[in-house]
Amino acid sequence: MRFRPDAVNPEGTLSGDGVPGGLRTALLPARCLLCLGEALTGQDLCSACWRDLPWIGARCLRCALPLPSDGICGRCRRRQTAYDAVKSPFLYQMPIDALLKGLKFNGRLAHARVLGLIMARYIGHVGQNLPDLLVPVPLHPHRLRERGFNQAIELARSVGRALSVRMNTHACERIRHTEAQSSMTAAERRRNLRKAFRVRETSLPPHVAIVDDVMTTGATVQSLSEALRRAGVARIEIWVCARTPD
Ligand SMILES: [Zn+2]
Ligand SMILES: [Zn+2]
Repeated sequence: MRFRPDAVNPEGTLSGDGVPGGLRTALLPARCLLCLGEALTGQDLCSACWRDLPWIGARCLRCALPLPSDGICGRCRRRQTAYDAVKSPFLYQMPIDALLKGLKFNGRLAHARVLGLIMARYIGHVGQNLPDLLVPVPLHPHRLRERGFNQAIELARSVGRALSVRMNTHACERIRHTEAQSSMTAAERRRNLRKAFRVRETSLPPHVAIVDDVMTTGATVQSLSEALRRAGVARIEIWVCARTPD
């Protein structure tokens, strides 16, 4: 099913908005994060910027890789993934890439709030059954100390609040401090991430969604999904804000 941003009323309320729309407008005239114009209630974006976001179109129904038409991509045909489906509202393009970099590298936590709300709207629109639990991709403790926060947790907090799904930030841990992966090939990423995660929680529910900011080759979420499968999780979805075409 293709998501059409105009099919969802961006001013509709979600429980995660936190502040009632009327009150919020009265107290703070909300400005669009992108153009500083007047924002839609509770969205931090104006209607024109909302419409022009790089919404994902036709894609692989398993891994959300952009495709000419909806279907299953070549890689998902050849290789079984440990997860069932990826849900991503956006392609990793302007201005979403800039908002995510602002979150990750400059600590712009407000970006996580607005992007998490958009993820919730998109997932609420395309999803059938919501998961029982959100598991944000953990950072290695060294990286967490460096950065001071985990962007996946910030996104999961916002999306979970909006959809009323709880998150568990201690369910899994990253046990290998992996190298920065941006210059690696897909095979190198897979090797780099093998056995990178350990599940600590002993009683996980049957349906879990892993939350992360961006999915590139999927090596990270594949590795974490394998760990969750070994721990007995039956259905695993991947919720990310943006998908790159590898
Ligand atoms: Zn705007
Ligand atoms: Zn695929």
